[in-house]
Amino acid sequence: MNQRPQSACHETQNNTDNNTKNHPKHAGQIKSNKMNEIYQYSIISALMDGVASSGIPLSTLLTHGNHGLGTFKSMVGEMIVLDSEVYQMKADGSVIHIDSSSLTLQSTITPFATVTKFQPTLTTRASISNKKDLSNILKRLGLLPRSRNHFLSIRMDGAFKSITFRTCGGQTFPGEKLPSVASRQVTERFTNENGTIFGFRCPDYSSGINVAGDHLHFISDDRRRGGHILELETDGEVEVKVAVIHKVHMELPDGDDEFDKADLTGDKEGIAVVEG
Ligand SMILES: [Zn+2]
Repeated sequence: MNQRPQSACHETQNNTDNNTKNHPKHAGQIKSNKMNEIYQYSIISALMDGVASSGIPLSTLLTHGNHGLGTFKSMVGEMIVLDSEVYQMKADGSVIHIDSSSLTLQSTITPFATVTKFQPTLTTRASISNKKDLSNILKRLGLLPRSRNHFLSIRMDGAFKSITFRTCGGQTFPGEKLPSVASRQVTERFTNENGTIFGFRCPDYSSGINVAGDHLHFISDDRRRGGHILELETDGEVEVKVAVIHKVHMELPDGDDEFDKADLTGDKEGIAVVEG
């Protein structure tokens, strides 16, 4: 029940304007026509404190956006959402495509995720030699410093010479804090891989609510490898698409004992270490 039909998925992918107007709403179909707004479930501080046993179904998450990132129940793997498709990138190197029949399952809930209905407003081609270089691209696009106090969504498609990424293996017990989980993270490096990066640049003041700075996930074109980006270098120019976000919707866990008892201190330095 409430399965997302394939057709809805394709419409979302190809038509970013009116895809919900002429069709009934289904689980997984975006309710709002409003583009480039952020919807986030829970806050990074809660994840830092180990709140990852409960969450919302992916079918619900997809009603709020078609691109995004996050994690899964018990912090098992990294999430990337591209064109309304959800992938779980795991520490054993495997990537699982969450098919439409699994989007409502309790086992695929997300305790923390950020999504947007992505409609790029600026597109360019650029070569990037490291993660910091992204700021130069944004400057060139006229987004910095003008939009430094807004959220940005960023998608890059193309060939990458090198990507250093990490994947979290998950909690070993309920409530295990993210720094402890991340201490066992698997770090790997791809070379010469074609793929897609999606993520957000969140302003400094959002630290504790979300990940301040660039938070980017990568998945290869063949959808077999990916994770949370620590460093990157493109192979020549890649396509860079960006949107500025002025509206942020935050949903906090309701009736979640772990969240209610969490110590939400907004540990800026700690978040920077684990989300680097
Ligand atoms: Zn991440």
